[in-house]
Amino acid sequence: MTLAFDPLSLIPPAGHFIDGAYVQDAPRLEVRAPSSGQVIGHIPVADAAMVDRAVAAARRALAATGWATLHPRDRLRALHAWADLIEAEAPALARLEAVCSSRPVAQVAAGDVPVTAEQIRFFAEFADKEGGDLVPTGAGSLGFVAAEPYGVVGAIAPWNFPISMAGWKLAPALAAGNAVVLKPSEMTPWSTLYMAELSVRAGIPAGLVNVVLGDGPITGAAISGHPGIDKVSFTGSTRAGAAIMENIARTGIKPMTLELGGKSPMLVFDDADIDLTADCLERGILPNAGQFCVAGSRIIVQRGIADALAARLADRFARPRPAPTWAESPGFSPIISEPQLRRIDGIVQAARAKGGEILCGGTRFDHGGSFYRPTLIGGVSAGNPAVTEEIFGPVATFQTFDTEEEGLALAQHPTYGLCAGLFTRDLSRALRLTRRLEAGTVWVNRYGRSRDHILPTGGWKASGLGKDLGREAFAANRRTKSVLIDI
Ligand code: NAD
Repeated sequence: MTLAFDPLSLIPPAGHFIDGAYVQDAPRLEVRAPSSGQVIGHIPVADAAMVDRAVAAARRALAATGWATLHPRDRLRALHAWADLIEAEAPALARLEAVCSSRPVAQVAAGDVPVTAEQIRFFAEFADKEGGDLVPTGAGSLGFVAAEPYGVVGAIAPWNFPISMAGWKLAPALAAGNAVVLKPSEMTPWSTLYMAELSVRAGIPAGLVNVVLGDGPITGAAISGHPGIDKVSFTGSTRAGAAIMENIARTGIKPMTLELGGKSPMLVFDDADIDLTADCLERGILPNAGQFCVAGSRIIVQRGIADALAARLADRFARPRPAPTWAESPGFSPIISEPQLRRIDGIVQAARAKGGEILCGGTRFDHGGSFYRPTLIGGVSAGNPAVTEEIFGPVATFQTFDTEEEGLALAQHPTYGLCAGLFTRDLSRALRLTRRLEAGTVWVNRYGRSRDHILPTGGWKASGLGKDLGREAFAANRRTKSVLIDI
């Protein structure tokens, strides 16, 4: 196998990134390579005092640079320069990401990095185009709604797409005039640190982008509970989102955006294009070994097409071959950690014990590192854990139905509502069901967003609160003030 780089040759920058410089701190947590299981580095855990130092740096930078009140084109230019530098540094960023994550280095360099640069440019363009509104009031007065940044945004990100998640959090916040204190996942810290370093090299004033390393209970809680943080933006599990809500309620009310978990249905009707649908179902669960929030993990198929589709899927699920994330040509991704792999296997075995039939997969790959076989489970009833729980692995259930109402009932999840896929050639049915599916995003005869950054993303029900991407993400980084002047 040809290697794009030697994972042990990377010496990642240690420490937090505060006020434009690395801050050393005692190493406390191991960082492992999921492709091999090796310990490849250590990171510190920022305590409340370290988070306080980052918040103070952010406040000082806002005051010293006038970032919020600069001409918006100056913010726009700085963000464009940052996007350019990120693209130029794609190989280094991709290596820092691939070494500790589930993302193959070639995919990060050719996909995650350029798409993130494009999203940063997308948000940069809002800086000088979205203003407040003049509103109609009585003849003797002038009324308008002014929109202003919050100040310091506290952001907490997951491990599954570290560069993309850092871009989603940082770009709209900075474009709107805020400073940010960002905590990446403790499992995937390094590409985010390097993005912060590049922000300073690109001319974004030091102190506007601060990265603190650490875990959820200590560092994450210190961010969500800090009185100097004006808004919290979180992406991660519903469990951690609930803990953050609780902490915010306990420590002082502040706005929050929560992008949480999902258990998304793929609802397929007899009249669907079977090849296109099989492509989408595969794309909906196998990339990144199913470790993405919008994974289409519940495949729900009308009976007439079910056997043919199940056979195609079993064939496609048998094809992927694992490869370390640092191999030159991308292979099937590892599971982020051994505990997570054991959790996935536990749910699969519980599903089997409750009557589920393993149509393919159902075991780990006999390969170094944490790799799990693409798994399809049939014969599952509504209460089966494989149908109800977010698995966050390459595991999908396969259920069948007869009527549209039965299919829709299976598709609606009692708690999650992140997204849904719908496959049919019947336009009326497609329009009818897109209205009725309880989800923040519905994809019809496709799966995934590609480069449509203008569409907001975010869940209904326990899948979240507020949106990332789109105009809504920019708006979510500003607060409005109503002004009425007697003239
Ligand atoms: P996680 O919730 O375990 O961790 C996410 C982040 O939150 C990490 O940085 C972690 O350190 C931190 N954290 C954990 N507990 C915390 C606490 N009590 N207070 C503050 N911070 C805390 O999630 P994960 O395993 O990193 O990521 C997988 C989850 O993220 C899945 O549920 C997935 O669906 C979700 N996700 C959602 C979206 C979306 O857009 N809706 C996108 C990506 C991932």
